[in-house]
Amino acid sequence: MSQIIYNPAEIDFDKPGKSLYEVAFHYDGEWGYAMVPLAVINGTAGPLKKNIVAFGGTHGNEYEGQVAVWKLMHELDPNEISGRVILLPRLNQPACVAGRRDSPKDNGNMNRAFPGNPHGSITFRIADFVNTRIFPLVDVVLDIHAAGRGVKFAICTSFHLIKDPTQYAEIKTVASLFDTLFVMIYSQEMARGLLTDQAEALGKVTIGGEFGHSGGVHPIGVRHAYRGIKNVLKHYGVLPGEIERVDPARPHPPRLVSAIHLDEYIPAPITGYFEPLYPVGVETQKGQLLGYLYDFEEIDRAPIPITASVDGYLLMQPFQAPIRKGETAIVIGQPVKD
Ligand SMILES: [Zn+2]
Repeated sequence: MSQIIYNPAEIDFDKPGKSLYEVAFHYDGEWGYAMVPLAVINGTAGPLKKNIVAFGGTHGNEYEGQVAVWKLMHELDPNEISGRVILLPRLNQPACVAGRRDSPKDNGNMNRAFPGNPHGSITFRIADFVNTRIFPLVDVVLDIHAAGRGVKFAICTSFHLIKDPTQYAEIKTVASLFDTLFVMIYSQEMARGLLTDQAEALGKVTIGGEFGHSGGVHPIGVRHAYRGIKNVLKHYGVLPGEIERVDPARPHPPRLVSAIHLDEYIPAPITGYFEPLYPVGVETQKGQLLGYLYDFEEIDRAPIPITASVDGYLLMQPFQAPIRKGETAIVIGQPVKD
């Protein structure tokens, strides 16, 4: 039922029903291909309501998105869908195979490679495929991440501070459909070239998010990703049915927080080992002691206190103990009034 594609121009994105492809991108320095899985579902239930794409595996060692999007790729029934759903569960396929954040083929970080380059190395060519073949077809872009290896995020959806008020309002609404504890507005000052940067610049309703950590498959993260994507489909009428709470036990809706200034990202002052004092998600006050850094190489060096730079919520801290000087140790999110 699936088809290998060597020339992306051959993909018929309008074909009714569900089509599974493996899009082959030739390696740069050896013989062989990255086979990027792609599902195109053109619903037959009713008129086209919306065009939506969801990505997993933008970073290869983040698995909740790979699991959730793969599951949807097999479960979604075109007979129930009124719209077009495009799913890429393992976008940076060589990185996914290797279980690494970046591609082992060109050390490419897919989430810094946008808008891509048709003549670049393999990660940039895959990004160019997304930018030129997928993004023009869709209205909504969902990119499911999981914090990477060393750090733990409070489960959240995220987006950049968008200037256009209509786009901002719709993104905020869609981000809350994942029913995570936090919806985070994050800094554009840290890095460029993100998949979401490009989608936002093109005016898409664009959602990122962190749904797990440390190379695991966390059931709560998968639940928010999987049901969240389905809620987005329902929100636009692409799937029938009512939007469902993902975490009905929590009495309040997702908290909107922002970390748009670099002083909300606290670096480790020395290379050492981090002792957290709280789980992620707790409310914090400026100056509050959050943990200690230990330099076990220097016997006369006392543990170094790490404190909150602003009032807010502890959104991220190290999960693995070792941390190097300058790496981000803490992210604080400040509450945003609706
Ligand atoms: Zn990631």
